[in-house]
Amino acid sequence: MSTLTNKFDYVSSTKRGSYWMPFTANRRLKEQPEERTLVSAEGPYYYKADGTKLFDTLSGLWCSPLGHAHPRVAEALHKQAMKLDYAPSFQLTNPQTVHLADRIANLAPASLEHVFFANSGSEAVDTALKIALGFHRLRGEGQRFRMIGRERGYHGVGFGGLSVGGIVPNRKMFAAGMMPGVDHLRHTHDLKYMAFSRGEPSWGCEIAEDLERLVALHDAGTIAAVIVEPVQGSTGVIVPPVGYLKKLREICTKHEILLIFDEVITGFGRMGEAFGAQRFGVKPDMITFAKAVTNGIIPMGGVIVTDEIYNTFMTGPENAIEFAHGYTYSGHPMATAVAHVVLDIMEEESLFARVRGLEPVLEEAMHSLRDLSIVTDIRNIGLTAAVDMAAAKGGVGERGLQVFERGLKAGLLLRCTGDTISFGPPFISTPSQLQDMVETVRGLIQSVV
Ligand code: PMP
Repeated sequence: MSTLTNKFDYVSSTKRGSYWMPFTANRRLKEQPEERTLVSAEGPYYYKADGTKLFDTLSGLWCSPLGHAHPRVAEALHKQAMKLDYAPSFQLTNPQTVHLADRIANLAPASLEHVFFANSGSEAVDTALKIALGFHRLRGEGQRFRMIGRERGYHGVGFGGLSVGGIVPNRKMFAAGMMPGVDHLRHTHDLKYMAFSRGEPSWGCEIAEDLERLVALHDAGTIAAVIVEPVQGSTGVIVPPVGYLKKLREICTKHEILLIFDEVITGFGRMGEAFGAQRFGVKPDMITFAKAVTNGIIPMGGVIVTDEIYNTFMTGPENAIEFAHGYTYSGHPMATAVAHVVLDIMEEESLFARVRGLEPVLEEAMHSLRDLSIVTDIRNIGLTAAVDMAAAKGGVGERGLQVFERGLKAGLLLRCTGDTISFGPPFISTPSQLQDMVETVRGLIQSVV
């Protein structure tokens, strides 16, 4: 590992006192900085300062399906930096950004034809919510201001995404400043009927009727959009019941409500198709994406919208600017250069098909953990899975934290939220790497019984 920085250089030069880490128990981390410092990465592995090699069980934060340190990406970055490292995104553009929008639209279901670029999932979501408001206003339905999210949904940390999101601890501190007019669908995870489901649970389609309840409560004419993740990722791979998303689509269409799929995790192959929309055979009006589009190497996000939405803006009242929204870094040339290489590699190596091939391997391995006494549920779809453990006497999250910390010693970088372990390994993983990962997880779970 030529890039491995030595422990003295790195750790001692890092002023832990200055760095305020995101979504982290900072107070706790300060007790063990060396344990939590990654210094390099290659392929599906991360390396710590002491040389420990960790299998990347979540592809970074669901964003690096090609693994790390890909020479072609590094080369593309260097070339782009020497050619056009930045270009203003307002009033001007550059060839590879224009071309990337076409490529992304080509991957999306038919009629989702136009791409607005942002720099993260949070920005993509807030952009989509603003497009929904603008769309309705332009067609004379400006009273449609309500947004419907879903319990346990994660849509980033902007005020829009936070408001439609349904993770209670994330919302709590900011309750006073939420976006008005937001309501939430019931989530679909009901262990009574669907524990240990493989793929889409066969029970639960009728939960989609909850949308009719909200429509009746608020009046369809006040609702702009429904936003859901096809598979809820951050809250532990909650897979939609068979027919559930189709039913949501039908209800939205009936009441002229826009349906937004937040595909920040499910987009670009993780479901074995370009998007979850294709995997589940349901066409939303907008798709938000981020993460894997650049393999996580440079931030990028965006929204894909239908012709109908785009044309409504383009043919609306004559304003100098049709959509008063955008970011300094929308369609950043460095990010688009990386995205092109990432899409090339995905195509050349048929990685969506590879995910379809790995899905049953991951499913078999994951469900083999069912015999462990503290495992209360296992779920999987595409190249994602989650295992729930019963809470220990010490409280919710104690086992999760122990498994995570022991994983760092046992060669796994794990993502544990509460007592749920979520998995989204790189597409380049081999079947035996996935099986080894699950065997190590078996030992870790046994160690916290
Ligand atoms: N939406 C979904 C579905 C996500 O999973 C995430 C991130 N995990 C986001 C939005 C927010 O993305 P970011 O962290 O890039 O802002």
